Amino acid sequence: MLTTTTRTREQLCPSCGELVDAATGFRDGAQPADGSFVVCIACAAVMRYGADFRLVMASIDDVDHPEDKAHLQLIVDAISTLRRRNATWPPRSRREVIT
Ligand SMILES: [Zn+2]
Repeated sequence: MLTTTTRTREQLCPSCGELVDAATGFRDGAQPADGSFVVCIACAAVMRYGADFRLVMASIDDVDHPEDKAHLQLIVDAISTLRRRNATWPPRSRREVIT
């Protein structure tokens, strides 16, 4: 699997307030774009990129395509598990969303 990390504007996660300045795609060649669904690495909130890469809250139920919904649910579940198992989550070296 090839991951791609893209620097984005610095902003705070609208759910948990963590600083976010990057997006990592976990599909080969995935690049964030306006309208992309993403998951906060800190709190597992589902969001969407609006205009100018501004994060806005969203729901996994907003995802139309079943494969995209399943992909996003896997990310939410993985981050939720990491949060439960690691008292120091999120790692300070990572401040990004996953798409
Ligand atoms: Zn968050």
